[in-house]
Amino acid sequence: MNQQPVIRINGNDFTFTPEETILDVARRNDIDIPTLCYLKRAMPTGVCRICVVAVEGQPNLLPACATPAAAGMVVQTESKRVVEARRMILRLMLASGNHNCAIRGTDDKDWTRFQLDVQQYDQHDELCPVWGDCRLQDLAYRYQVSPERFDETPPPYPMETVNPFIVRDFSRCIKCGRCVQACNDVQVNNAIEFGYGGPETKIVTKGVNGDLALKDSNCVFCGECIQACPVGALVEKDARYHVRPWETTSVRTTCTYCGVGCQLYLDVKDGKIVKASGVEDAAPNDGSLCVKGRFGFDFIHSEKRLKTPLIRENGALRTAGWDEALEQVAARLTEIKAQSGSDSIGVLTSARVSNEENYIASKFARAVLKTNNIDHCARL
Ligand code: SF4
Ligand code: SF4
Ligand code: SF4
Repeated sequence: MNQQPVIRINGNDFTFTPEETILDVARRNDIDIPTLCYLKRAMPTGVCRICVVAVEGQPNLLPACATPAAAGMVVQTESKRVVEARRMILRLMLASGNHNCAIRGTDDKDWTRFQLDVQQYDQHDELCPVWGDCRLQDLAYRYQVSPERFDETPPPYPMETVNPFIVRDFSRCIKCGRCVQACNDVQVNNAIEFGYGGPETKIVTKGVNGDLALKDSNCVFCGECIQACPVGALVEKDARYHVRPWETTSVRTTCTYCGVGCQLYLDVKDGKIVKASGVEDAAPNDGSLCVKGRFGFDFIHSEKRLKTPLIRENGALRTAGWDEALEQVAARLTEIKAQSGSDSIGVLTSARVSNEENYIASKFARAVLKTNNIDHCARL
């Protein structure tokens, strides 16, 4: 009988399947190996190295996300050497660019000057817009790291604020590549890639016209890259500095823009929706959204929105109560049906309402009005 292969992680034995990496086995068994560049629905790149682990017999630490599990492998995920390597990676990341959430220590760097420089670049006087919702910040806290051992590097590129929905802040980019994978491998929009190289590395738009603003590129503003970005380099324009994570309540719901039924979270502050994001690990969208689901919620709070029924009288519309409006509709439909038959009536529903609402409309048309004239209008 074939025995399942076993890997030993932190002194415990775990079975694994042939396609699993060290990270897969660890996560399946609730062992927390930190990641930054790893994106679940894409090929692991191992570029950030924060997931390095010690494997017995290997001279170098190995990235858990890109190293296949092997029979007899002995792994340590939080040894002193591993932790030191992670701390060094975090220090370098925090020292590169405007990571002004990190408190500088007792070194001789001028903390005030640094903050003032960041504020000028960002045109804002608060700490980073994703403070409290940042994977790098979480890890800096977990491993007690601040960037004080290195000179900070000034941001080589200006912030991009001209796009309708997304602010790109290159000063906080850690070059993890998650946005590139999210755009190319998950959404298959192929709008962005790594450009330049070396210390000049920047996420640039794809295409013959070179490095453009997203609004002038093939970007369709699905926002997959924002959701993938682990830091404050890509942020929703309307939410940036207007909302902090602890100020909102997240409500899970179903997008009503089309029949796909994407699962999303709406972040609500003071009774208003301020942000939408896809629900990870849930069908049918597995965290992805399109531009409508992610950014198209302004209409909910629009002043132009109809809030009461309107009845047309002598060519002009007047507001009415629901009882009056429904009575009038029922009376007119009954009258038309008696005079001209059921087939003279048609029902128009919407692709932007739920399946349940369309089902009720269909029942109303067929069972009550006795007509099969029912369709939808995508623009309703
Ligand atoms: S991106 Fe994260 S680590 Fe950098 S300043 Fe913002 S909160 Fe801090
Ligand atoms: S918004 Fe969508 S299409 Fe545009 S860069 Fe991000 S992932 Fe690509
Ligand atoms: S923009 Fe965000 S997701 Fe993209 S490389 Fe930079 S840090 Fe990573």
